[in-house]
Amino acid sequence: MPLRFFNTLSRNLDEFKPLDPAGKRVGIYTCGPTVYDFAHIGNFRAFTFEDLARRYLAYRGYDVVHVMNITDVEDKIIRTVRQTGEPLQQLTGRFTAAFLDDCRALNLLPPHYVPRATDHIPEMLALIGALMKKGVAYQAPDKSVYFSIAKFARYGQLKKIDAGQMRPGERVKLDEYEKESLGDFALWKAWDEADGDIGWDSPWGRGRPGWHIECSAMSMKYLGESFDLHCGGEDLVFPHHEDEIAQSEAATEKPFVRYWLHCAYLLVNGQKMSKRSGNFFTLRDLLAKGYTGRELRYALIAEHYRRQLNFTFEGVDGARASLARMDEFLVKLREVAGSVSAATTTKPAGTPALQAEFEAALDEDLNISSALGVLFNFIRDTNKRLAENAVPPAEAAAILATWQRFDTVLGFGMPQAQEAPADVAALADQRQAARKAKDFKRADQIRDELKAKGWVIEDTPKGPKLKRL
Ligand SMILES: [Zn+2]
Repeated sequence: MPLRFFNTLSRNLDEFKPLDPAGKRVGIYTCGPTVYDFAHIGNFRAFTFEDLARRYLAYRGYDVVHVMNITDVEDKIIRTVRQTGEPLQQLTGRFTAAFLDDCRALNLLPPHYVPRATDHIPEMLALIGALMKKGVAYQAPDKSVYFSIAKFARYGQLKKIDAGQMRPGERVKLDEYEKESLGDFALWKAWDEADGDIGWDSPWGRGRPGWHIECSAMSMKYLGESFDLHCGGEDLVFPHHEDEIAQSEAATEKPFVRYWLHCAYLLVNGQKMSKRSGNFFTLRDLLAKGYTGRELRYALIAEHYRRQLNFTFEGVDGARASLARMDEFLVKLREVAGSVSAATTTKPAGTPALQAEFEAALDEDLNISSALGVLFNFIRDTNKRLAENAVPPAEAAAILATWQRFDTVLGFGMPQAQEAPADVAALADQRQAARKAKDFKRADQIRDELKAKGWVIEDTPKGPKLKRL
């Protein structure tokens, strides 16, 4: 089956074909955080979905190059610097480090490039220069440089805005604005007093870049003028991504991005997240409540990305229970597989069908909820057979090997084999020896000693087995 993505640009499920003529290399750009505060779980829903997209492309055999920027100069950052007096670099450095820690907690694969906006001012100036030269940008009386939407015929192609709604010639200097103020947007913002000591020299005077030009410059630097996938939350469609397309395509006269993927909003307890409603959570807030990054990853990823996710504590408890069920299943399989390795088995029954179903679900626009459904049905059926001792070791080993591959996509991690520490293993051996010598008193004593160390010994047809209490 072909891999298909719902493309915001076409509003269709489009078959995925990489730009690379060899069909191997895939470039993904994801809009990274604006680092003036801790990222909230709505942000992390987008980052986990992007991680899933990247992981699945790699699973499908593509050589993925993933770029995620750090927006470290932007309106909200400047406002925070002004309010708190903390120097820009100190503020953004602190929250960049916190963000990367959060990403590790959620087991998000580190992007291959994590460019910071303030390290790419020359690239932005070059891009603005190219737009000026082509006559699609102009310097306004306020000294800021604006993109003229009237000069770019395809403006509005992503948001599907018709020309009647546009107000070319009217200017908006803010990084974030509503469709009502849809007009020429800022590429370079002339310095004003509110900027304090933040600013860079440019051919158009001292100032700072607009948010949108940051992403155009950084994505094209690392992925080329045209690349495969650009992802983000649905709130980025307009104006951010619309403006990225306009700037990039007007400058290069090439199509900017083939597939635009956007994930739906996250609600908390059925409501839009807001500090005022008391349902606003950073990842840290939830880790502090005792949830693990793994459980939160599951809770954020398990709903298909284009469906609204209603985040609740019952939902995270459900994620915890699902992971426990999965872990228990895999541990049982490991016991059955024993020392049999998957390499010694050939095409064990069941596994190829499982793999085909898992892939078919994800091929259809990364339908993870359906893929997890496939896995839990399989767990239920196989648990029945495990209870009847009807799963041969070779099959258990094959399932485990297949699951290990699935986990490169899921990112939940396989449960660790519970290897008994050396002193515990030695005690178990002594107990075996005592039993052989019919010294049952000593054997029972050792059993109690093991219990005190948190281990039980179970006598199975294959001999004694150590299990954690
Ligand atoms: Zn961006």
